[in-house]
Amino acid sequence: MKVTKLIFKDLGSAVVIAFILIIVIPVLCSGCKGTKRIVEKPIVFDEQRSQLTLEYMAERYGIKKDTPTIEPRMIVLHWTVYPTLEESFEAFRSSTLPNYRSDIEGVSGLNVSSHFLVDRDGTIYRLMPETTMARHVIGLNHCSIGIENVGGTDKNPLTALQLQANIWLINYLAKKYSIEYLIGHYEYTKFEQQEFWLEKNDSYRTEKEDPGESFMKNVRDATKKFNFKPVPENKIL
Ligand SMILES: [Zn+2]
Repeated sequence: MKVTKLIFKDLGSAVVIAFILIIVIPVLCSGCKGTKRIVEKPIVFDEQRSQLTLEYMAERYGIKKDTPTIEPRMIVLHWTVYPTLEESFEAFRSSTLPNYRSDIEGVSGLNVSSHFLVDRDGTIYRLMPETTMARHVIGLNHCSIGIENVGGTDKNPLTALQLQANIWLINYLAKKYSIEYLIGHYEYTKFEQQEFWLEKNDSYRTEKEDPGESFMKNVRDATKKFNFKPVPENKIL
């Protein structure tokens, strides 16, 4: 009887210790690292997407690697224009480019994506690992983390909650990586012929206005402490 009680007592202790090790400590640690606000919502990143990413890196940038990884040096902010999280996520989900983006399909079949997607209520979703290359900005994918925001344009302007979430996320990323630049997608062509620019095709460009100048100004005002480098004034011709 005593032996049975002892076993049960030990089992009880073991369960408590296991609970602390498996549940309590990881939860506390994730809070310490500031990852609590990030919800994992992965897009498809299968063998096909991996291969297409490696091809994109080799053909567009002349980078030959075995894995499609990056060292983040830049953060690029975007808006999706799609009014809902579901539509925005669907645009990035599959590995290959849907037919309706035929304007850029000639360059690569790799679907566009970004590392993060911020919903209109400020919820932050991580779509893929921060150190895997996403296709979100011509010329600079090999060194940049993309943050997409649901909505955009005059009809669905980005919300105050999205602004707060972007600021939080930039703080999180700037502490984690050696980030030198924070830019809006509409500013990307200013990096042509600058140190990070690698796109080989001079005629492959798209006109962008996301995520709007006022949104960028607000984000920059709130992240001054990081002393990100200024965006180059003009292209060097
Ligand atoms: Zn964009």
